[in-house]
Amino acid sequence: MRTPLIAANWKMNKLVDDAVATAGALKPLVADAAGVEIVVCPVFTVLQAVGKALAGSNVALGAQNCYTKESGAFTGEISPQMLKDAGCTWVIIGHSERRQYFKESDALLNEKLHFALKSGLKVMFCIGETLDERQGGSMNDVLRRQVNEGLKGLSETDFANVAVAYEPVWAIGTGVTATPEQAEEAHAFVRGLVEAQFGKNVAEGLRIQYGGSVKPDNAAELIAKPNVDGFLVGGASLKADSFAGIIKAVC
Ligand code: PEP
Repeated sequence: MRTPLIAANWKMNKLVDDAVATAGALKPLVADAAGVEIVVCPVFTVLQAVGKALAGSNVALGAQNCYTKESGAFTGEISPQMLKDAGCTWVIIGHSERRQYFKESDALLNEKLHFALKSGLKVMFCIGETLDERQGGSMNDVLRRQVNEGLKGLSETDFANVAVAYEPVWAIGTGVTATPEQAEEAHAFVRGLVEAQFGKNVAEGLRIQYGGSVKPDNAAELIAKPNVDGFLVGGASLKADSFAGIIKAVC
C-alpha cells in the first residue's frame, strides 16, 4: 500500500508574511488528515519562517531545487545541506520549469538527484511531456528518456526516498487537467519503465504523483486511479483552503 504524497509547489510566490500566514492557516485544516504525507515547498527566502510556522504539525517542509555541491564558488546556487539546515526534508528536482527555462538536462538532474539523496533529502523527481511531444506521438519516448536517464544509477534503497511526479507540461498552470484515464495510462507506463530498469519491488513501492491543474474538485477522480499516488500542486496550493480541499479529497 503506497501512502499518498501531496505536495504544494508555491513556485516563485509569496513574501514571508503571506507564506507564514498560509502555512499557519493550513495547519489546523489538515491536522486530522490521516494516511497521507503532506509537504509544502516555498521559495528559499521563506523556508525558515515557514518551517517555524509548521513546527509540530503533520506538514513537512521542502524546497524547489538544489545544486550538486555542498558549498563553494557557485554563485546563486543552494546546497542540500543548506536546505536541511533551513528545515527541509524534501526537495523537488527536475520540474518542467527548471528543464524549460533554465535548460536543466537529464544528466544534470540525475546528478542533482544523486547528490540530494546522498545528502539526506527526499526527492520528488518530475517528468512529463509537452503538448507538441504528446501530439507528435513521442510522449512515450520522452518519458522513457526522462526515467532512464533521470533515475540512472539509483539503488533499491535510494528509492525509499524518491517519488516521481508525472506532470504533463500542457496541464501545468493551464487549467487543463489530464483526464483520470490519461493520468492512469501515463502513470502505468512510467511504473512499467521503472520495473524494467529497477525491478518489480521498486516499481510497486514507488509513489507516482500527478501534477497539472489539480484542484479540490478533480482530485478525488484522479486519486481513485490505481497508479496515481498523490499530487504535486501549483496554483491550487497557494491558498490554504484549496490545498486542504485537495488533501481532504484524498483522505
Ligand atoms: C506544478 O507546477 O507543479 C503544477 C502542477 O502547477 P499547477 O497545479 O498550477 O498546474
